[in-house]
Amino acid sequence: MEQAKGHRRPTILIVDDEKTNIDVLVNLLNGEFRAIIAKNAEQALKRLESKDEKIDLILLDILMPEMDGYELSRRVKNNILTRNIPIMFITALSMVEDEVKGFEMGAVDYITKPFVAPIVLARVRTHVELKLKRDLCEILAMEDSLTGIPNRRKFDEFLEFQWSAIQRRKSPLSLMLIDVDYFKKYNDNYGHAAGDDCLRKVARMLKSSMPRAMDFVARYGGEEFACILPDTGQAGAVEVAKRLLNAVSSLQIPHEFSDSANHITVSIGVSTVTPPEAGAASDLIETADLALYESKASGRNQISFIAYQ
Ligand code: GH3
Ligand code: MG
Ligand code: MG
Repeated sequence: MEQAKGHRRPTILIVDDEKTNIDVLVNLLNGEFRAIIAKNAEQALKRLESKDEKIDLILLDILMPEMDGYELSRRVKNNILTRNIPIMFITALSMVEDEVKGFEMGAVDYITKPFVAPIVLARVRTHVELKLKRDLCEILAMEDSLTGIPNRRKFDEFLEFQWSAIQRRKSPLSLMLIDVDYFKKYNDNYGHAAGDDCLRKVARMLKSSMPRAMDFVARYGGEEFACILPDTGQAGAVEVAKRLLNAVSSLQIPHEFSDSANHITVSIGVSTVTPPEAGAASDLIETADLALYESKASGRNQISFIAYQ
């Protein structure tokens, strides 16, 4: 059963191709932790990429058929969504070089088989405790306290990361700025508390209308939100923008004083960059901002697109 936020048991992903190892580790950890298993790297990646799973530590075997533990570790560390998850290798490889390589791949610990159960448990406890403390720091620094979605600081970090990633992958990146229409009038007429409540509802709706794991939405400031859509070209981005525009409208938050509808609406500016474009990530924000301005100037409650060049 889902536990209340803050009281959930930390989740540990055990990746091992040998059933006996898995059984021993599950018996050791389950109870204090929630142990989930993957019998190979492919299953592990699926678990790690799932939006519904929050993993706090990975216990990783190195010798596995197809993709080995080193390669899996490299992928986990190269993905912005998973790179903060600590990895402990548990392996039969006991040479010093293997251990050094494990740490070079970004592991926080390295345990050789056959292992001593109480020592594994003690080390797992330490690393999980550190991970949870880091998570708390991250939340305090990167989350918008009103809406609970990522803040501007997190947005800047995510955009920089994606900016370099798309240059490597040679795939497009889209950015969207979303601004609530006539929000000053909303505040002036319904009060600041109602305004806050409205922003929370809009944020929640935007987030739940973007189910793709890599898509990202943040509160950019005031009554403005921003989305980053990796590997998404113009057509895809405009489609998502339409979905978001309709989703906010469908909330039917009454706004008698809006000139664009009788409920809360948003205006959206969309821009897409396709590598190899030089320049800085902030240029993409500027283009999206121009597009947003166009939506506002043409009557609000609509989408405009300007290509980045
Ligand atoms: P437009 O349709 O051109 O976007 O007009 P607007 O009134 O939405 O835009 P304007 O920038 O004039 O006003 C934005 C308002 O948003 C003013 C500000 O008080 C309000 N606002 C910004 N942040 C918050 C917040 O955290 N809570 C509340 N309640 N209001 C906020
Ligand atoms: Mg604004
Ligand atoms: Mg506005």
